[in-house]
Amino acid sequence: VKSIGVLTSGGDAPGMNAAIRAVTRAAIFNGMRVFGIYRGYKGLISNEIEEFKTNSVSNIIQQGGTILKTARCEEFMTEAGRKTAYENMQRHGIDALVVIGGDGSLTGAGVFANEYNIPIVGLPGTIDNDLNGTDTTIGYDTALNTIMQSMDKIRDTATSHERLFFVEVMGRNCGYLALNSAIASGAEAAIIPEISMEKDQLAELIDQGFRKSKSSSMVLVTESEITGGAMNLAERVKKQYPQYDVRVSILGHLQRGGSPTAQDRILASRMGIAAIQALLENQRNVMIGIRENEIDYVPFKRAIKKDREISPELLEVLEISSI
Ligand code: ATP
Repeated sequence: VKSIGVLTSGGDAPGMNAAIRAVTRAAIFNGMRVFGIYRGYKGLISNEIEEFKTNSVSNIIQQGGTILKTARCEEFMTEAGRKTAYENMQRHGIDALVVIGGDGSLTGAGVFANEYNIPIVGLPGTIDNDLNGTDTTIGYDTALNTIMQSMDKIRDTATSHERLFFVEVMGRNCGYLALNSAIASGAEAAIIPEISMEKDQLAELIDQGFRKSKSSSMVLVTESEITGGAMNLAERVKKQYPQYDVRVSILGHLQRGGSPTAQDRILASRMGIAAIQALLENQRNVMIGIRENEIDYVPFKRAIKKDREISPELLEVLEISSI
């Protein structure tokens, strides 16, 4: 591999810049040329590609978002779109890619890699922590901290007014963000897709009187069709239990922004450098993961498999610590 392209795709996540920086510098360190591809797969198709030098990534490690911009791209789902993308790679002499993004982006990377026999290494860039084979993803820790700080503020109001708050957070079909935020913020419960599939978590909470010993409560809810979302759950409670003073707070996009935490910057730096190492070792179609603080190579197929299990130990921690 003499020349690589790097892109960010799908939802942005804090730490993506730190990853771009590490990938760029590791490639140059190893004598490769590096091309920054703007707007994810979209820019690969529309040829928004620029050669990067070490100073192209100066002063970005502390910035949220992604200097390469990110996008969703329907055209890359088509053979014609991917053909144009491949032709643009050839035009610039790019012979391998590092794709930073979530499960959709890595799915696309897998399809593209197989079609054109291109070495592609992925980095898990998503606040959702919904990829298999890695304990954590780039952006997850920052999002957890942002949610925790918001929860501390909401708690002041919840306590003063003796209210029941449903706070909706991101995560798609993965409850890690809600569950760990609930633990970190001392919330009463987390309504998450993995458990909602099996039982009516809200009914259980109501039966328990939302922990009778407390005058205010905070419940984290994953934004997902499976949980129904915070608004729906609150409506259900209001109808059945008018005695509860219920409020909803949807944290929305503020969860995705902000300067990355030390943990995310370090993770992104390690993973970025590991991506280049993987290419040097002739790895392809793998995502860089981290397990027990060691770098691991996870085949795309396994990384994107939608069967990430929620930790029973974490569920128990929340249950016991919120009695
Ligand atoms: P996040 O989890 O933060 O939303 P993501 O990477 O999962 O990020 P998606 O919108 O699902 O975000 O996917 C990003 C892009 O990846 C899509 O817009 C599309 O260009 C590409 N992609 C996804 N799935 C495929 C596929 N099956 N074939 C080709 N390209 C795909």
